[in-house]
Amino acid sequence: MTDYTKSLDRAFEQMPDYLTTDVRFSIPEPEVIIEGKTTVLRNFLEITDTINRDPVHVLKYLMRELGTAGKIDGTRAIFQGKFVTQTIQSQISAYVDEFVICSECGRPDTELVRNDRVLMLKCAACGAHRPIRKRRVRTAQSKDAIEEGGVYDVKIIGVGKKGDGFTHVDKYTIYVPKTIKGEIVSVKVNRVSGTLAFAEILERKSQEST
Ligand SMILES: [Zn+2]
Repeated sequence: MTDYTKSLDRAFEQMPDYLTTDVRFSIPEPEVIIEGKTTVLRNFLEITDTINRDPVHVLKYLMRELGTAGKIDGTRAIFQGKFVTQTIQSQISAYVDEFVICSECGRPDTELVRNDRVLMLKCAACGAHRPIRKRRVRTAQSKDAIEEGGVYDVKIIGVGKKGDGFTHVDKYTIYVPKTIKGEIVSVKVNRVSGTLAFAEILERKSQEST
C-alpha cells in the first residue's frame, strides 16, 4: 500500500457517518411505460420501500401533482394519461425533498408523524422535528419537464443567432420561430432534445415593452 492510499484510507475513516448514509440512499429510477391511455410505473412499490413511505401517501401526492387519477396495482402504480419518465421522476424527487429528506442534516432517516393535526418530519439522525413545509404552487410553467406535444404559455426572453425567439423554462431552452423578445405566446412543443425544446407558436397573447 502506498502512502497515498494509506492516507486516503485514513481520510475515509475520519469521515462522519452521514456521508456514507447519503450514498446508500439511491432511489430506483422509475420504470415508466405508457400503455394505451395510461402510464404504468412498474417499480412503484420498490420506490416507496426505498424511501420508506406509505405507498398510498405517495400515490395521492403523485395524483395531485400530475393532476390525474391513479391506483396501485400489485407492485405497480397506474395513472390515467401519458407521462414521460422525466415527469414522474421529478415528482418523486419533489416528494422526497418534501416528505423524506431532513432539512437540517440532509439525511433520509426520517419518519412522518402526526402531531395533533400537523404532519411533522422527524429525523432519527439529528433529532430535528419540523412541520412539512407548505408547498409552493406549481403552474404549467414551473413543472420540471417539458413534454413533446405539451402546450405552454411562455414569455420570449431573447432571440437566438438564427433569429428564433427563445425562453427558459426550468433547465429547458425553448425555441419558438417568428417571435420577438418580450412577447407572451402560447406554444406547442414539437420536439425535445436534451434540454433543448423546439416549439411552434399557437397564439400571440400580448407583448410587454422591453
Ligand atoms: Zn436530521
